[in-house]
Amino acid sequence: MACMAGFIPIACAAFIGEHSYSTEKLPMAHGRPDEEDLAKAKQFGIIIQKECALLANQNDVNEIFLPGSRDYRNKEIPNLPLAPEPSEDRCDVCKKCIDVCPVEAISFDSTFVTDKERCILCFACVKACPKHAREINNKYWSQAMENLKKRCLGRKEPEFYLLS
Ligand code: SF4
Ligand code: SF4
Repeated sequence: MACMAGFIPIACAAFIGEHSYSTEKLPMAHGRPDEEDLAKAKQFGIIIQKECALLANQNDVNEIFLPGSRDYRNKEIPNLPLAPEPSEDRCDVCKKCIDVCPVEAISFDSTFVTDKERCILCFACVKACPKHAREINNKYWSQAMENLKKRCLGRKEPEFYLLS
């Protein structure tokens, strides 16, 4: 019996969410999860509930099979110190980017400085910037984003897994 921290997994799902690097120029799963995704999640919840009732009286259950591999890492994204920087033409110094950065990588003292060693590339500052002023200008990054966009083209659907 497969047991994780005292739990026995009986169901799993892979849902689609908007990529944190998705922008207006490079949309990736924009607006997901949407109503269709949420309806599927609700339906899957009902199925899991029935499965739980069926398994309640069983002493042993199989291990759930999940595709894919652990320790996923996108090797196309270069392991370089990178961070979004503001364009001086567009930035109006509202400082919203400073407020949303979860690791306090952005500071302002007459000019903006982004600590590339601290930045975790979450893109919260890019999404929060009302002037679309924050970007990464690096050719390796741009190429990696183009490749990512190609892979994210077309609608993908959630995947569901239950104990067989
Ligand atoms: S959120 Fe955008 S416009 Fe506001 S300070 Fe940051 S970079 Fe400038
Ligand atoms: S990408 Fe994330 S961690 Fe990096 S500066 Fe922006 S908000 Fe901070």
